[in-house]
Amino acid sequence: MGFDTSGLLPLSDALQGMLEQLACCCDTEQLPLPDALGRVLACDIASPLAVPPFDNSAMDGYAVRLADLASGTQLIMAGKAFAGQPYQGEWPAGHCVRIMTGAPVPPGTDAVVMQEETQADGDRITFLAQPEPGQNIRRTGSDIGKGACVLPAGTRLTPREMPLLASLGVATVAVRRPLKVAIFSTGDELKPVGTPLAHGDIYDSNRYGVRAMLARMGCNCLDLGIIPDDPAQLRAAFIRADEEADVLITTGGVSVGEADFTKQLLDELGEIGFWKLAIKPGKPFAFGRLPRAWFFGLPGNPVSAMVTFDQLVQPALAKLAGQRFERPLQLQAIAAEPLKKSPGRLDFQRGILSQGPNGIEVRSTGSQDSAVFSSLSQANCYIVLERERGRVAVGETVTVEPFGGLLL
Ligand code: AMP
Ligand code: MG
Repeated sequence: MGFDTSGLLPLSDALQGMLEQLACCCDTEQLPLPDALGRVLACDIASPLAVPPFDNSAMDGYAVRLADLASGTQLIMAGKAFAGQPYQGEWPAGHCVRIMTGAPVPPGTDAVVMQEETQADGDRITFLAQPEPGQNIRRTGSDIGKGACVLPAGTRLTPREMPLLASLGVATVAVRRPLKVAIFSTGDELKPVGTPLAHGDIYDSNRYGVRAMLARMGCNCLDLGIIPDDPAQLRAAFIRADEEADVLITTGGVSVGEADFTKQLLDELGEIGFWKLAIKPGKPFAFGRLPRAWFFGLPGNPVSAMVTFDQLVQPALAKLAGQRFERPLQLQAIAAEPLKKSPGRLDFQRGILSQGPNGIEVRSTGSQDSAVFSSLSQANCYIVLERERGRVAVGETVTVEPFGGLLL
């Protein structure tokens, strides 16, 4: 992992290079189910029971034996089965059992006939159609077999998984502790929101983006604020982050102007590679190891910081946190306006997807300057333009990646 000045590193190589080195670093703890929302499963969840746990009725109607209907269309109602109150009486020949949705079907039931296909005259029930064997019976284990893996390790628990786990009677789950991520912004020009700006100052916006994305990922964030371009203060911040967190993410200070300075400090403290990525926005990027923590140095330009976090840091953090990670789907769309592009880097342009008369079309949000943050907030997708591609004409097909996950 040297200081690479020769050529630009493709995104996929950078990602692979990082992921190869990383492994989950978060211990396991046991939590009550409601407290585990947002956490990552440490183990596969095998179903402790069959779902449904007993054969039951999918309809309000009548449980029947086909043999009883072979010689006629009328049966006498022997009794009733409700959800939670199985029918336990005798079931003589020539009889049926009134049954409600979710009630266990009495032993011997061949089918449930929905109420709408019957006529009742007191307890004398006429069946208007010949039932098919097994109809309207939800069989034991037809949803989930006992012992089947319902959720693999690495699943992040969302509102979609909570009722599933509850339906299996899972009261506590083994989950990973959250990844602890220290962050700071670097730059003498940066001021925190809520303070006045002097000439030459700007507000530190990156930290708010990075914090928000970490929150979306379920990481615990140690926010060390803004560190000026001062070796002593930077060094202290690096050391503190390394002692207290699993990961340090900084923004700024990794581009050519400052890289030598940061590099010197980081070379002394750890083993960090400074990369020039073949992506736009987001060329400068640093990755490596401090004595204890992993380090990600994002570019200072706000859009570059967000895009490199989304594309590179997110999968890396997921791996450290033990979380399975899949990139959002990429789709094809028609360029509804020309797109500027020069060959050489993989572009993540900010686009607006919409439904056009001939299918899904995409427009640019305008300036693609990596300092123009409004272009990201107006967008609902990346327009992913291949490295060697040039200018895109109206009507050409382009790859788009709708914002999901972190950016929505
Ligand atoms: P740097 O990577 O430090 O050379 O910064 C590149 C550009 O991004 C400069 O215009 C910086 O002022 C700007 N920048 C760096 N950090 C931040 C930040 N935290 N928030 C907003 N802009 C930033
Ligand atoms: Mg700077």
